[in-house]
Amino acid sequence: MSAIALSPQVLAKYEPVIGLEVHVQLLTRTKAFCGCQNHFGSEPNTNICPVCLGLPGSLPVLNSQAVAFATLASLAINCEVRERSIFARKNYFYPDLPKGYQISQFDKPLAEHGWIDVPTADGKTKRIGITRLHMEEDAGKSIHDGFADSATRTYLDLNRCGTPLAEIVSEPDIRTPDEAFEYLTRLKEILLYCEVSDCNMEEGSLRCDANVSVRPWGQEKFGAKVEVKNVNSFRFVRAALEYEIERQIEVIESGGHISQETRLWNVAEGRTYSMRSKEQAHDYRYFPEPDLPPVIVSAEFLAATKKKLPELPEARRARMIAEYELASQDAFTLTAERAFADRFEAAARTARNPRRVANLLISELGGRLKALGLEQEQSPVSMAGVVHASDLLDEGKISSKQLKQLFDACFEKGEDFATVYEREKPRQITDTGAIEALIDEVIAANPKQVEQYRGGKKTLSAFFVGQVMKASKGQANPALLNELVVKKLEG
Ligand SMILES: [Zn+2]
Repeated sequence: MSAIALSPQVLAKYEPVIGLEVHVQLLTRTKAFCGCQNHFGSEPNTNICPVCLGLPGSLPVLNSQAVAFATLASLAINCEVRERSIFARKNYFYPDLPKGYQISQFDKPLAEHGWIDVPTADGKTKRIGITRLHMEEDAGKSIHDGFADSATRTYLDLNRCGTPLAEIVSEPDIRTPDEAFEYLTRLKEILLYCEVSDCNMEEGSLRCDANVSVRPWGQEKFGAKVEVKNVNSFRFVRAALEYEIERQIEVIESGGHISQETRLWNVAEGRTYSMRSKEQAHDYRYFPEPDLPPVIVSAEFLAATKKKLPELPEARRARMIAEYELASQDAFTLTAERAFADRFEAAARTARNPRRVANLLISELGGRLKALGLEQEQSPVSMAGVVHASDLLDEGKISSKQLKQLFDACFEKGEDFATVYEREKPRQITDTGAIEALIDEVIAANPKQVEQYRGGKKTLSAFFVGQVMKASKGQANPALLNELVVKKLEG
């Protein structure tokens, strides 16, 4: 939790300005500039060669699949792809970078001038600019703990050296930690839809650094910006930004000034720590990589890549809202993962009422999975099971109360819906006389509601249906019940 407590009045005097840099590892089979396997979790220092270690005499060769993935991602975030982009050397020393430089792109990146739209709290969308997407290689990993002598030694695993990355830099268009969270969520969703990265934050295949400054409202000039590193979940990005915004305001309010620096987020303490003063681009002595030719993206290649773009999440949501009459929030839930959205759509198209399938998936199935801490893949009820249940409900063959009981049984026994339904086929009262008797009882017990109904408040029929359903212990045939209630009330 944030240790700073400023009054809302003080906080309201300043406008935060946030920009995000996201690194994603591309899902290529081999590394960016050599034939080594691009694989997470191998034995340390087994996927390495003279090229990714930068040994004398070795020469890099660009992996065309990395360019294809980076180009696809660029188009998905609405960037203009440069026909001719240039690799550059970014020079710095770090133990996990044996070459002494990182191959990156500098003044001529692969793609620029993109944007993505993110939903805002008031139900609208906000467009966040994307400055650039450039290709680069990852560095190795320093391992500071886990060994008997970790107190005195740091170990190196260089397997990650040369892993292809796309770095996506946003414009400083983000104004709140919540917007930053939304931007990251949408960006990750798009990248997953394009299948260019697995975006697994625990394994480091998606990493985020945040630049943040504050300025008094109305001031045009940006304040000094601080880069927050080491944030390995979107929730932590939000928390780190909340903390950092308050910290900067407090410094300014107490007469101090913000120095441009890099700070590390400490999860356990919920605060940021100064790591080093912020380096400038010229500190890296960028120069064009002499061992690699320019990257040429031809018009043909670009056109072919455009054709490979999948239907992206935002477009898919809009279409699904129209096609299945979904609520916006439900559309977000159903499209969060492409494979899940595919399975939903394939099933929904066979159902009598796709909207009902969506509702059951989210409220009945989703609710139970969430309560048990299970993933969708661990659900005992299959997508076909949900469609089956939805159809039965739609045909009035089971009531919603019975559906809940059947779902409960599925989760208790770990069985799919069809199995449970065939065995426990719920009793249903379809005898008109029996239902009418129950309706008469309910009508007699609620004279006031009857009077209101007959006075024009027709929506009260739902009240009577509910009461009779309760009296029947959820066993009255819903279609028949609806019909008879209206008949009795009107009669
Ligand atoms: Zn290699």
